[in-house]
Amino acid sequence: MLSATLFTPICCAIFAASPAIASVGRPPVSRTTSKSTHFTPRRQPVPKAFIAASFAANRPAYRSYLFLNRSQYSRSLAPAKTVTAKRGVRQSGGNPGASIAWTERNVRGIRILQVHALAKFSWLIHGFSTKLGGVSNQNAEKVLNLGFTEWDTKENVLENRRRFLSALDASDLELVSLKQIHSDVIHLFDAAPAETCQGDASITNRRGLLLGVQTADCVPILLVDPKERAIAAVHAGWRGTLQRIVVKAIGKMQMQYKSKPADLLAAIGPSIGGCCYEVGTEVATQFLSQFAEAPDWFDEFRTGDEPNPIQWLNRMPPGHQPPPKNVLLDLRKANRAQLLDAGLLAPNIFISDLCTACRRDLLFSYRKEGAESGRLLSVIAIRPA
Ligand SMILES: [Zn+2]
Repeated sequence: MLSATLFTPICCAIFAASPAIASVGRPPVSRTTSKSTHFTPRRQPVPKAFIAASFAANRPAYRSYLFLNRSQYSRSLAPAKTVTAKRGVRQSGGNPGASIAWTERNVRGIRILQVHALAKFSWLIHGFSTKLGGVSNQNAEKVLNLGFTEWDTKENVLENRRRFLSALDASDLELVSLKQIHSDVIHLFDAAPAETCQGDASITNRRGLLLGVQTADCVPILLVDPKERAIAAVHAGWRGTLQRIVVKAIGKMQMQYKSKPADLLAAIGPSIGGCCYEVGTEVATQFLSQFAEAPDWFDEFRTGDEPNPIQWLNRMPPGHQPPPKNVLLDLRKANRAQLLDAGLLAPNIFISDLCTACRRDLLFSYRKEGAESGRLLSVIAIRPA
């Protein structure tokens, strides 16, 4: 029974993901290539060490053994797709579709990332900032910090924003940004608010409102409904992702603007990748409590309460084994899965493969830079008449 509950979600997630992965142009080297033979785990003899480990952890022996089996699958089935990954994690990078779908706009030294499919709408403005072309001083470098941080002056940030909006041809638009709180609070704007609102997503169908989210590792998501002409900007860190903020924003667009998910386009901007985003196993536990496919979003899925076989291999007594490793979480993959679940079509989801932690030459990473980190800004607007 336990083996069924353990494996069913994993298999479902992999099969469900396979056509979607193909659609964003991933090379056909993935676990899905051998799904017919390799995802039918058989109960195998359990080594005595694992029986002992399981007994120590008050857990059935075959469960811990299956956990080991799964990591064996990961190693044996997917050697080719993890060549550049740290700790063997699947990367969102290495995605040839991403480089085709994305384009770069360079205006007076300001470099802005855009999605071709969104840029072709003449009524739409959108863009994801990079750190290049600003006036803020960070480690003897001039950077485009677009968020009000302690280390930077207000004047610098306002000048950076002026440059960014000018490069987007959006100087006349009012920037509607939020005080982000890692929540699932979504605001509908018919006009620019008098005061900054707390929340993590905003939607509108009004012209001239430039919706923005600030990030430095978290996932910025821009949504467009070309039929009903409605837009959204979403900030999804792990807490927002856990709370399905992007799905809720789509739900709000459905309610307010009669948007159909199959019509929507989604652009997932630069964020920390599955290569670098370490979280504690307690985060994995929370994701598993919410999503059956959660194990597919981690490099090796562990909730931290499995018996540690290392303890038996090196003969350490219980309680003296090294603390459990953290796990790597791929937030882009999690949000992409949520978009698909909400009804978006795979070809309408565009994911940047730039990792904020890997590309500090181009982006800001709070994980890497801490309080000295700048903020990226992702914006979207319906052009004024
Ligand atoms: Zn990375």
